[in-house]
Amino acid sequence: MCGVVGYIGGRQAAPILLEALKKLEYRGYDSAGIAVIDGESIDVRKMRGRLQLLCEHTRDGQDVPGTVGIGHTRWATHGAPSDRNSHPHLSNNGRFAVVHNGIIENFRQIKAMLEGKGYVFYSETDSEVISNLIQYCDQGDLVKTLLAAVPHLEGSYALGVLSLDQPGCIAALRKDSPLIAGKGEGESFIVSDIPAILNHTRDVYLMEDGEVALLTGDEIRFFNGYGEAVRKDIFRVSWDVSSAEKGGYEHFMMKEMMEQPETLRETVRPRLKEGRVDLDELKLDGDFIRRLSMVHLVACGSAYHAGRLGKDLIEKYLGIPAEADIASEFRYGSPILNGDHLLIVISQSGETADTIAALREGRRRGVKTLAVVNVVGSTIAREADHVLYTWAGPEIAVATTKAYTAQIAALILLSAYLAQERGQLAEAERAELIEGLEKLPELARRVLGEKEQAQYLASRYFNRGDVYFIGRGIDYSLSLEGSLKLKEISYIHSEAQAAGELKHGTISLIEQGTLVIAISTQKRLREKMAGNIQEVKARGAAVLGLVTEGDEVSAALCDDCLRVPALPDAVQPILSILPLQLLAYYVAALRGNDVDKPRNLAKSVTVE
Ligand code: GLU
Repeated sequence: MCGVVGYIGGRQAAPILLEALKKLEYRGYDSAGIAVIDGESIDVRKMRGRLQLLCEHTRDGQDVPGTVGIGHTRWATHGAPSDRNSHPHLSNNGRFAVVHNGIIENFRQIKAMLEGKGYVFYSETDSEVISNLIQYCDQGDLVKTLLAAVPHLEGSYALGVLSLDQPGCIAALRKDSPLIAGKGEGESFIVSDIPAILNHTRDVYLMEDGEVALLTGDEIRFFNGYGEAVRKDIFRVSWDVSSAEKGGYEHFMMKEMMEQPETLRETVRPRLKEGRVDLDELKLDGDFIRRLSMVHLVACGSAYHAGRLGKDLIEKYLGIPAEADIASEFRYGSPILNGDHLLIVISQSGETADTIAALREGRRRGVKTLAVVNVVGSTIAREADHVLYTWAGPEIAVATTKAYTAQIAALILLSAYLAQERGQLAEAERAELIEGLEKLPELARRVLGEKEQAQYLASRYFNRGDVYFIGRGIDYSLSLEGSLKLKEISYIHSEAQAAGELKHGTISLIEQGTLVIAISTQKRLREKMAGNIQEVKARGAAVLGLVTEGDEVSAALCDDCLRVPALPDAVQPILSILPLQLLAYYVAALRGNDVDKPRNLAKSVTVE
């Protein structure tokens, strides 16, 4: 959530900081601020509200001189969004400025200790203890000072620090919150997420927890927790700035939906080789694969919905039990784990706090872990024993689309690969699956090409109050995702029900004109779904069906229909979700909502 940036080099810092913060806006925030070293003092400008206000107030940064600065977008956790609680925070002596993403869990103790020494606090944030603790631990050298202060901090943090005693440097460090350092020609950056500096440089360093980075215009040096210099390799970002920009679309969400034929190809193609699913990149031990007796799939939000599909696939192809769990439940539950189990965690950003905690819990308990992740070098990617990257490229819109379908594709590949290595994937099944996966990008293009169908139906239904999604099996998992997509960006109340469960309660809510979205894409369950559709129609529901092409029987039951080409069940969900993504998008747009940045939501949920 929220963002940290920093700039040091030959150019005026403030405009660059504000521009980078703009690119982090999608992460969600409620206030923004910058601090720039200006000769003998630190100039802090910060305010509650949209970044645009700060831009107007500083004439896009031009009013703030200086070439060394840090910036922040805040998503309040401690203390209301207000000018005073905004970051950066200065130390009492005005010599240090700090921006912080994350939460300092023991801030009360630190605050009490510092107040006892006469320090005064001007905000209600947990973050203000950091700037004063740094002053308290001052050793005359920024790296040493930070290494003295940081062991006292419990919780998560990405920090950017300025010191008037070393005005030609920025210091940065992180623990459990994202932060990377970027190196340009005669200038250096820190930033929460790579796309925000891609127009300046593609050379970045991925920072480890507990490492301190010291930036000057000419170089970036890294130190470990003992203050020893550490050598790090530059990571060169291969995607370009256009994949992080809207490229002619009105919203990132539309652009990202339309990219799915390409992203699916990227996820799948390199992993199909000579009629075989090739995930040797995972370096999973053959013995372990054969011994595998259970799989846990753990994630949050849409990634959890992908995990549910993964569970079905594992059970179908491997014939062993699999559980899909919500990360915030798993981490505080009593899951039964042992050495023959595999814990798969799924996350777009790789920084989802609850998923990180679940991963760590699994590792602590000695179970092998595998991450399905989109962001390269993210915390989850680095901490898991094995990583399967989804290669969907940067995803900016808060509501996930291309990263979600890439997760499903990755889970199909993974379950097929595990079955294949165990000798359980029959030749015919493998051929059918590979053919389905290969056809997928082209079929996705066709479905997305007919987006006007979803647009028209959105115009018919966008002003409904409550919406019910129903489906069975994989179509129930799709219902959950379709419902989440709709509610998160349209703000219409919607829920998903296993179709067979309807008459155990929820059907009492169906009345004349209630919109029910019925998903029926599996041949073997068609009759059952037809029965459920009749039930809601008999109570006056308007039924919008999502059916496969050629299924005229189901189509005839519905008032309106979205149609997708039929594929083998395993691959079908990737195609089926596309019209539901489009529908949610058009409904939200028709209601005049901020599609890419829905209220109250952040792109990567880095707090519990
Ligand atoms: N916990 C800090 C605050 O409430 C930082 C929040 C953030 O990550 O933006 O100010």
